[in-house]
Amino acid sequence: QVVQYFLARIEKNQDLNVFLEVYDQEALANAELIQNKIENGTAGRLAGMVIGIKDVLAYKDHGLQSGSKILDGFKSQFTATAIQRLIDEDCIIIGRQNCDEFAMGSSNENSAFGPTLNYADKTRVPGGSSGASAVAVQADLCHASIGSDTGGSVRQPAGFCGVVGLKPTYSRISRWGLAAYASSFDCIGPVTHSIEDAALLLEIMAGLDQYDSTVSNLPVEDYSSVTSTSKKYKIGYFEDAINSEGISADVKANTLVKLEKLKLAGHTMVPISFPKMKYLLPTYYILTMAEASSNLSRYDGIRYGYRNQNAKNLEDLYKKTRGEGFGKEVKKRIMLGSFILSADYYDAYYTKAQRVRRIIKEETEAFFKEVDFIVSPTTPTPAFKIGVKSTDPMEMFLADIFTVHANVVGLPSISIPNGTSAEGLPIGFQVLGTEFGEKNMLEFALNVQ
Ligand code: GLN
Repeated sequence: QVVQYFLARIEKNQDLNVFLEVYDQEALANAELIQNKIENGTAGRLAGMVIGIKDVLAYKDHGLQSGSKILDGFKSQFTATAIQRLIDEDCIIIGRQNCDEFAMGSSNENSAFGPTLNYADKTRVPGGSSGASAVAVQADLCHASIGSDTGGSVRQPAGFCGVVGLKPTYSRISRWGLAAYASSFDCIGPVTHSIEDAALLLEIMAGLDQYDSTVSNLPVEDYSSVTSTSKKYKIGYFEDAINSEGISADVKANTLVKLEKLKLAGHTMVPISFPKMKYLLPTYYILTMAEASSNLSRYDGIRYGYRNQNAKNLEDLYKKTRGEGFGKEVKKRIMLGSFILSADYYDAYYTKAQRVRRIIKEETEAFFKEVDFIVSPTTPTPAFKIGVKSTDPMEMFLADIFTVHANVVGLPSISIPNGTSAEGLPIGFQVLGTEFGEKNMLEFALNVQ
């Protein structure tokens, strides 16, 4: 019945353009099997939980296109470790969800399958790149979604859609089976209605994996046991950023009210000055474009998906396939990334950005000597109108100003709903935690939500 309910909701809300494929028959059949397990007392911890997955996660024998034409017709030959662990606990995968091509974007407008609409206002974007994963939860099309966050792609859409989005510490969850965008930034993360659901999904997905040697060997904590407490914290916030010009009046007001409430609740509020914040976006985009240009070289027309049929020779095949298969944003990033990694410019851009990344990490670690958490709005504005930023890359990049920090330094971060603007658009509140401090961060989020 639960699966049927969601299938009917998906059918009714097709205009949102959330699912690229719905596994209706399979989901119903699995529901039947899991129902039996429940009756026999052998069901897993997620029995009956209906989950949608972003189109960057491998699910054996199912389509995987990363929102791109270049993977037309491609089917996964294995299942991502994170997804397999959820399946092993008897969740039901209901379908794969639209996203920006190769997770590059902040509005879901870069998908080869067209934009996804925000359920709160269908003239607005849902954020990106896991935009559809957030709308799926917002519009009640499944219980939870699994997305990926390279610079905010789980938290920024969660903020725009009024749901919870969690990015764990880098290396907490295996990236095996996640289509690579920028490997030293990419994290899998859940989008959910509640902090408790996010904690449970994290607990199940996290931990060592023989297929990804970068996964941390620190033990996975029992995140799902978190409950709210009345602990008092030292809470840092970037005063200048919250008061800066780029923040819309409604987001600023909403955030200041939240900070005031936290103060009244007895927490110690610590303003932090972070002049290097202006280097976050340049550092992030230089490094992610460099990594993307390398990662995406595998799409050559030979090994995966789409292939141009009129090529005269091998080089022509590469050129035509990549020229036709990739969208504009992806091509732009591959070209810039190749430039950044080229012999003449490597030191000027790539090496320098790596150094800045290290300095920002050290400075952020120093902040955490003074405070337990750093809070901010998730985004500088609520969801914007479809089309308004797609011609201005700098404007679009600014949508990630608060979220990229966590990825540049590899720390965990969560976006929780924090009311709405006067127009009724959701506004998100973001928490940045300490390395592998997910459990404390989740408890804190529960305490201050
Ligand atoms: N919007 C950012 C980008 O385009 C972040 C995307 C992401 O986290 N995958 O790179």
